Amino acid sequence: MPSSTLQVYRLPALSDNYIFILVDGRQVAVVDAGDAGVVLDFLQTHNLALSMILNTHYDGDHVAGNRALLTAYPGIPVYGSAIDRGRIPGQTVFLNDGDRVEVGASIGHVLSVPGHRQGHIAYYFPESADLFCGDVIFSAGSGRVKDCTYGQMQESLAKLRSLPDNTKIWCAHEYTFDNLTFALTIDPDNLELKSRMVEVQKLRSALQPTIPTEMGFEKRTNPFLRWDSEAIRSRLGTVGDVETYTEVRSRKNKF
Ligand code: FE
Repeated sequence: MPSSTLQVYRLPALSDNYIFILVDGRQVAVVDAGDAGVVLDFLQTHNLALSMILNTHYDGDHVAGNRALLTAYPGIPVYGSAIDRGRIPGQTVFLNDGDRVEVGASIGHVLSVPGHRQGHIAYYFPESADLFCGDVIFSAGSGRVKDCTYGQMQESLAKLRSLPDNTKIWCAHEYTFDNLTFALTIDPDNLELKSRMVEVQKLRSALQPTIPTEMGFEKRTNPFLRWDSEAIRSRLGTVGDVETYTEVRSRKNKF
């Protein structure tokens, strides 16, 4: 059985987005091309040709580059949620939870994760333990709830939290420093959170990325994944998973 070798390249784009390029053999995918120029420059520099576009949701900073990439690479498939039909420019493949996408020999599992958007999906590659989760989980944070309920977002976060601890989280934004500043107001005695802040301050002052992060680490430090922490519940005065998540989200909205 041929084994997959998924290589992931992280491209900074717009003000604080990341675009990801996935390469396995001769196949090349882009995840959430918010800016086509950044992608085209990378492909040219590395002498690669684009095979497909994978979108996590329809917000502009994730799909704005689709049309220009389709002009450069006519006819390549554009993947997104079936729920986003009519919203993702150039979309040709309409995905549902449990579907599979192939990048060379690498198989990505499609996970439906509504909360930030109804049609938000994540792409999880179990063999290489890579997760592309758009705006659902960030390092020390989580995306805003837009056209969904807080319960839906908590359920989606629980679904992603159940992935293996060694899962690399390739999220779509460099929000880590601001997220940590907030997280420390929710969980001020968490030693790992405090040392992450020291590490991230060093990385960001050297203009280095803080992404990817790992699921096991986020489970121990990200307040948006810790609705069952007794320390957090007692600090917030909440009971129950959705209530605790909702209180964290509401405080972040006002932060
Ligand atoms: Fe975004």
